[in-house]
Amino acid sequence: MIILLLLISQFVHPEINKAGNQFHLPQDSVITHSYDVLKYNLTVEFFTPYDTLAGMVVITFSPNQNMDTLPVHLGQAMTVDSITMNNILQSYHRIEDTIYVSLTSALPPHLVSEISIYYQGKPIDGLFQAFSGFLTDVEINQAAKQWWPCFDYCWDKADLGIELHITVPENLYPVSNGVLTGIDSISGNRLTFHWVHQHPIATYLVAILASNYLVLQRNYHGYPLIYYAIPGYEYMAEMMLDSTEVIMSLFDTLIDTFPFADEKLGQIQSGGRGAMENQTCIRYAPNSWLSPITHAHEIAHSWWGDALTCINYQQMFINEGTTSYYECLATRVLQGDEGFNQRLEHMRQGGLDCDDQHHWPIINSPDPFGLNVYWKGAWFHHMLRNLIGDTLYYPAMRAFYHQYKGGNASITDLQNTIEQYYKLEPLDWFFQQWLYRPDYPQLNLWWYHHQQYLHINITQVQPDSFIYKIPLELGLWYGNSCSVSREYLMEQRELIIQELISCPDSITMDPQMKLYFRPRRITPLAQSVLIIDDGQSQNLGINYQNICDQINIPNLLWAVESLGSPPFSLIQQVSSIFWITGRIQNPLDSIDRERLNFIITNHYPLAIFSTHAASQLSQTSFLEDTLGVIFSGDSGYSNQLVGNQQDPIGNGFSWYINPVQRYEFIYPSVQGEGCAYFQNSDYGIIRSKSNFQIVFSTVDITDILPQPESATPLNLIRRILQYFGYPVNCPLPPPHSPPCNLVIEYQDNGSIMFKLTAPISAQLTIWDLTGRKLINWDLQKDNFILWDGTDHQGHILPSGRYIVKLNLNNQGASENLPDLNSVVESYQVFLIK
Ligand SMILES: [Zn+2]
Repeated sequence: MIILLLLISQFVHPEINKAGNQFHLPQDSVITHSYDVLKYNLTVEFFTPYDTLAGMVVITFSPNQNMDTLPVHLGQAMTVDSITMNNILQSYHRIEDTIYVSLTSALPPHLVSEISIYYQGKPIDGLFQAFSGFLTDVEINQAAKQWWPCFDYCWDKADLGIELHITVPENLYPVSNGVLTGIDSISGNRLTFHWVHQHPIATYLVAILASNYLVLQRNYHGYPLIYYAIPGYEYMAEMMLDSTEVIMSLFDTLIDTFPFADEKLGQIQSGGRGAMENQTCIRYAPNSWLSPITHAHEIAHSWWGDALTCINYQQMFINEGTTSYYECLATRVLQGDEGFNQRLEHMRQGGLDCDDQHHWPIINSPDPFGLNVYWKGAWFHHMLRNLIGDTLYYPAMRAFYHQYKGGNASITDLQNTIEQYYKLEPLDWFFQQWLYRPDYPQLNLWWYHHQQYLHINITQVQPDSFIYKIPLELGLWYGNSCSVSREYLMEQRELIIQELISCPDSITMDPQMKLYFRPRRITPLAQSVLIIDDGQSQNLGINYQNICDQINIPNLLWAVESLGSPPFSLIQQVSSIFWITGRIQNPLDSIDRERLNFIITNHYPLAIFSTHAASQLSQTSFLEDTLGVIFSGDSGYSNQLVGNQQDPIGNGFSWYINPVQRYEFIYPSVQGEGCAYFQNSDYGIIRSKSNFQIVFSTVDITDILPQPESATPLNLIRRILQYFGYPVNCPLPPPHSPPCNLVIEYQDNGSIMFKLTAPISAQLTIWDLTGRKLINWDLQKDNFILWDGTDHQGHILPSGRYIVKLNLNNQGASENLPDLNSVVESYQVFLIK
């Protein structure tokens, strides 16, 4: 069934409308009962205004065991007049929607028997007025019993079909399952229509649709395609018959001959909502009368759902997921590749949105008619087809159909059939990750190009720890043309790719729409924070990554234990680095000293997260060699080091100047709000005189993670990023800046203004991270420069981090300048477009 025209965004889901209705679904193991239904014979009369009916059903059945009680389902709103077997009245009692008939004589197994149930009433569900007549419909599972007595589980089909004898006022034409074998006139201006359907049928697919129909019929490959049209809408019906022929031709080829070709394919304009794949008499609500896609969906159900039916409602995917994919395949025939792709994309986004809202798996979903069952289910088939290839997918699906048509099938049956064709590996992983798990993979991608190589890092960042096994193609864009990469198999959280490929303008994931996923972030590395986790801190790098995601800072998590040390080429590309180390082992054992030295000496903004690392560092001459700073995670020790030249700057931060090493030092006081100070952990921000922004953190991550709002790692990282110069939406005030000779102001139009603050003249140069000088100016005192992000040839430069160097002319140099041999100030700016 398809619930509603999918263009409508305020999409009312009939099942969800039945709020409070609990589904009582049989478990997998409960697929047998005391008898097997062979056939129903339903005689029923409908009374104006078509909200009441009276009837009699004869159930032909075969006991599976010795039986003295026969359970039949019927809604409590309906009255039972009598129940007979061999013309002998049977006693019964009712519990909720089940009638328990106490048989006057017990039946042995396999003795084919008949029982007749006379009933009447006003159904609470299943019968609706429509177009001067009525329709029967099952908007929820096991609703057939609301209007007629039956064994209302889909796994006990009436093997020999159903006969219906339908009495209505003579102005109505009731359409039902199978073939119309006769119409009798009876007293009171009434007619009785006789419909006979001789295929196995599940109870929810039995339907009667009555109005003053016009019957439009075509012969298609020897069997009738019939459209029952509301008078005045024949043209719509004819158009839909045209597309029906196209759809039938496709499914005949892809799956098999129409399963009910000896009877008819009936399609009916009716009321209600959405559409319903009643066996051989498909109902369309007005909003789908002109929708070939909805027609394709319902017609596909003739194979998937009608002939082959899911074993139970937990596995509704067998019906709806499969049908939704064949609907897509029909869209390609009806609307071309573009229509096919649009439909696939529509289904992917709808499925992902449903996943985000509900987090339901496809199998055992609380709502068997949830959009994930339909649309993520369709994507299951799409991915399966891409995995095993057309040459196996279509034959395997045909075999699955042939084996189970006329009966029921389970997910296990589907998997077994597919595996009979695809012998490369068992597909348990595939079925498990896509059908039994909620949600979907989420991917971040970072890339940079260095010395002719394209470096790409892809990370699975879905919130749960599950790692998907997924194939992934990349789209490498050069201008308007896209080159599709080879397919990479991603089986771990991170995938590192290095290929000799010229530098693309941009990169997209999954350009050919083969994967059910969401891309979270695709970023050139130059704008990203590199989070290096040496693995000794219990993978807390992932927490920092989540925090960066929360505040929308592009970041790349680099796990040293699995990836080795980050290469220089990568470090050169990022805008700043968080280095997370453990607290227990000697972290310096795992830190690549050479790289750390490189980072520091090349002035890449660096934050180190680990108290213990700090204390380790303080016992070595390593940082002394490079920065001349000794640092400790112990606040008292730090205070000793930095002396007393503090200057409170609010929010619990103080500004220190270390007179010996000439480094300034922002240090959070003990109870400051908005700082990250915890017990014996703290952090500091160190900035060198020459304005290289180096953040040195000694936060003990395991201590700060559970802390309350004012002292969260989120605030810490915001503060650090802000200090690095990121345009972070940060509630904290800007950190104190040491005196310098250049003011940098970011303009709304993306350009950057440089102004001298001291009465000096200087030369200002801008460099990229590879050390290329891009543009230079002579800057006179009291003057300013507006940089529009171009180089000296006028080429527009990409967004990212740039180095600004201010060469101070000796003449007129301020006495305030630090006593350095080379009077060069360096700054960093972020060009943002
Ligand atoms: Zn459907």
